Amino acid sequence: MMPIKNISNCGCNKPYSKQMKTLRLILGDQLNSQHSWFQEKDQEVIYFMAEMRQETDYVAHHIQKVTAFFLAMRNFAEELKNEGHQVIYFPLDGQDNQQDLEKNIQQLVKQHSIKKFEYLLPDEYRLDQQLQTISENLSIEAGAFDTEHFFTKRDEVANFFAGKKTMTMEYFYRDMRKKYNLLMMDKKNPVGGKWNFDKSNRKKWTGKPPIPPKKDFDKDATEVVDLIENSDIKTIGRIDKKHFPWPSSRKECLDVLDYFCEKLLVHFGDYEDAMHTDEKFLFHSRLSYAMNSKMLSPKEVIETVIDYYEQHEDEIDISQVEGFVRQILGWREFMRGIYWKEMPEYSEKNQLENKNKLPNFYWTGDTRMKCMEKAINQSLDDAHAHHIQRLMVTGNFALLSMIDPDEVDNWYLGIYIDAIEWAEITNTRGMSQFADGGIVATKPYVSSGSYINKMSNYCKSCKYSVTKKTGKNACPFNSLYWNFLHKKQEHFKNNQRMGMMMNVLKKMDKDTLQSHIERAEDVIANPEKY
Ligand SMILES: Cc1cc2nc3c(=O)[nH]c(=O)nc-3n(C[C@H](O)[C@H](O)[C@H](O)COP(=O)(O)OP(=O)(O)OC[C@H]3O[C@@H](n4cnc5c(N)ncnc54)[C@H](O)[C@@H]3O)c2cc1C
Ligand code: SF4
Repeated sequence: MMPIKNISNCGCNKPYSKQMKTLRLILGDQLNSQHSWFQEKDQEVIYFMAEMRQETDYVAHHIQKVTAFFLAMRNFAEELKNEGHQVIYFPLDGQDNQQDLEKNIQQLVKQHSIKKFEYLLPDEYRLDQQLQTISENLSIEAGAFDTEHFFTKRDEVANFFAGKKTMTMEYFYRDMRKKYNLLMMDKKNPVGGKWNFDKSNRKKWTGKPPIPPKKDFDKDATEVVDLIENSDIKTIGRIDKKHFPWPSSRKECLDVLDYFCEKLLVHFGDYEDAMHTDEKFLFHSRLSYAMNSKMLSPKEVIETVIDYYEQHEDEIDISQVEGFVRQILGWREFMRGIYWKEMPEYSEKNQLENKNKLPNFYWTGDTRMKCMEKAINQSLDDAHAHHIQRLMVTGNFALLSMIDPDEVDNWYLGIYIDAIEWAEITNTRGMSQFADGGIVATKPYVSSGSYINKMSNYCKSCKYSVTKKTGKNACPFNSLYWNFLHKKQEHFKNNQRMGMMMNVLKKMDKDTLQSHIERAEDVIANPEKY
């Protein structure tokens, strides 16, 4: 097998060699047991995996996220060993573990007289840079291989939109459907006669249909959690270490996928945007971690779901399936493509020049705003919240409060079990905070309380009144919304999609606007009061 990138620095111009003592690195989010690397056993190859402080400490991660990755990595290493591969695994407290990728690799190369270093292309810019440097610093052959996980290569989205003014996800998604022949009647026409059933995916959930219990694994993770806690790693969030719910092997991930097909797919699209005080996950798949760790591939997830749908067409509507396929084949691949197109500059984008601090209640969940209290506490309890909670509750509040996107990114990168930078930053800085000035979204995803009220029952039990526009008990989102549009009007003056709301703002009575501004400024200055 040949690398897609040969980074040899052996001082020679030899072609890439096959048979020699080789060290192959597997990162924590590269647990793809179906990869061609593992299809043959080679006694000259040593696989290397490590739990390292460089990975636990670059942001404060949720304790469940660190636990999930360590458990899954340990299982993966065990499986490789059982299949007859040679594996070196450094646990966090391993004697030889120097906690730094370069130091660990240098040490192993020396100890084992390694002649060649190979790695799978990482999905994070910082690791990509680091591995190139490591490869160049080693005085042996080095090569990088594809992870064989995504549908697209790193530059495919950029190439698809080359020369185009805007990058509309929908066009890319349609192209992907055709290219991979997914949910297609024939080469040109989509199943169901429409490419997109988004409009039917906007139901509020009011207690029916019943939501099946979430698929949990209820395992004892005490050993790993104690190790993390005793190592003084700074983590966030809560955990019940005796009842750890997340999958940590490919088999368990496949169980989550089957459960989704059998129990949840039937209403996935209908309630995709719904939120409820008593139901955290509704009909969402909770498969993002299984895919982002690469235990499952997006291709097998989509194909399994489509197969299931084709066998149950009488019970499941195309709109449920199309909505799901769009998220993975469309959004997930699109976001990764944007990441590789725009990094590293993307991580510094702050088009709206937002500078405020993230309120402390993002770390504690201690707020009177019911929607925020629910979305944040769920994130702290479960290391998960679904898309609309992330976008239209916590993200919406952060943008309306004009929080510095660095602080917002920091929170999202740490708190969610699926938070790997390529997916996190494009969703947070791009889709949610509009800090990229419109690369991902054509307009900012902001709303007053009315959207939250439309899609949830949160407002019913909130201290604030969603219908009141101003005054002490009025929903804070209402004033924040108008204040945001007022303060950022220069940025939106040429944005046609904002035209209607900017016109409403222009016509707003001066006193009403002034009371919105005063209230919003108080919320922003004293968020803990709310
Ligand atoms: C501010 C913000 C931050 C986010 N951060 C992350 C992140 O760090 N990692 C991450 O994987 N997703 C992120 N998302 C996207 C999305 O919210 C999660 O993928 C989803 O909530 C995961 O839950 P699920 O598996 O139940 O998804 P489902 O609702 O069941 O959707 C199925 C799958 O579609 C994919 N998907 C859906 N929407 C997106 C999207 N916008 N971008 C990429 N993939 C998508 C996911 O792989 C997901 O598992 C973020 C969204 C927002 C608004
Ligand atoms: S009233 Fe406002 S703050 Fe309260 S739950 Fe509704 S949207 Fe959230």
